[in-house]
Amino acid sequence: MSETDYTDRAEGAGFETRAIHAGQHPDPTTGAVTTPIYQVSTYAQTAVGVHKGYDYSRTANPTRTALEHCIASLEAGAHGYAFSSGMAAADAVLRWLTPGDRIVLGDDAYGGTFRLINGVYKPAGMEWTAADLTQPDTLAADWPEGTKIVWLESPTNPGLNVVDVAAITQIAHANGAICVVDNTFATPYLQQPLEHGADVVVHSSTKYLGGHSDVVGGLVVTNDAAFGEQLAFVQNSAGAVPAPQDCFLTLRGIKTLPVRMDRHNDNAAAIVAMLEEHPAVSKVLYPGLAGHPGHEAARRQMSGYGGMVSFHAAGGMDAAFSLVTKTKIFTLAESLGAVESLIEHPGAMTHASAEGSPLEVDDALVRLSVGIESEADLLADLRQALDSVS
Ligand SMILES: *Cc1c(COP(=O)(O)O)cnc(C)c1O
Repeated sequence: MSETDYTDRAEGAGFETRAIHAGQHPDPTTGAVTTPIYQVSTYAQTAVGVHKGYDYSRTANPTRTALEHCIASLEAGAHGYAFSSGMAAADAVLRWLTPGDRIVLGDDAYGGTFRLINGVYKPAGMEWTAADLTQPDTLAADWPEGTKIVWLESPTNPGLNVVDVAAITQIAHANGAICVVDNTFATPYLQQPLEHGADVVVHSSTKYLGGHSDVVGGLVVTNDAAFGEQLAFVQNSAGAVPAPQDCFLTLRGIKTLPVRMDRHNDNAAAIVAMLEEHPAVSKVLYPGLAGHPGHEAARRQMSGYGGMVSFHAAGGMDAAFSLVTKTKIFTLAESLGAVESLIEHPGAMTHASAEGSPLEVDDALVRLSVGIESEADLLADLRQALDSVS
């Protein structure tokens, strides 16, 4: 990262102010209010090795630097790194491991994280164990030998389980491991894992941070200077860096994160209340429900319950398959976290790669990414689809 001081206006400011200003300041040459897309690969040097902090855009680019400073500020961390996708970000973190090391992975982790660990890291000599991280005592009692990383999501995808970040981090630290939190579902607006002791936060910025289904990206934040140096080394060596335009789009998305998340929360709460009453739904999974097993932990570590809702179709897989094709505003698609509402069948779509593994999901499960459209329209759309399979 460059040495440029980007803290200025955002220093000590509130979350909404930092979402708009952290890492960003009027362009010094033109006064442009928005951080420009520095569409450039190399930079002029006045003498050998003498430059303004940038020499080659794989190593650093000013648009990327702004994004890296911004996400570090929002996650209350010291060091931020941007990657070309969420999986590239996860990969950069996992490269800290050496053969023989073990990863403990939540037993309903994102399918792509499972695929990376099982399909890429396992053949390279790393071991992994799936664990129910909603039960910290079981993990402590049954600690898998050689574990160096505990990789958790909260809320989880697609089960919407809540993992107590502070409790799992304590157990990881007591056993000489680090705790990595994939904070994609909650975003730093609702949850800041580093504040609960976690060592590293990973994001697919493709989701809520970008927020408009128009850019793929990944981010990592840590307070650990040595781990940060390793991440910068991998970022520069392996080169899975985002393009300047992608950094610009992500920065633009982040500016409205707080207002979008407030609306996601409200719309999701209204939909959950409707689903709870509908006969075509046998079970609703949402951490905001008082009866959710992780509700207390969610209240402690989150400031809202987010826009992701999963439910079981009372009619099983056939009903689930049918109903996901009946909505008109909820689009049948993978991905999540954007302004538009999406619906999907995790067992056959996002989590198909986990079939036959401990991470396999129930085939009656339907996942909603509740967008920020009019609440009444979303309720009506979902209700007519559910009615059609009742
Ligand atoms: C989408 C997603 C990822 C992977 O991110 P990409 O940007 O698609 O590579 C990782 N974790 C979670 C929780 C996700 O939803």
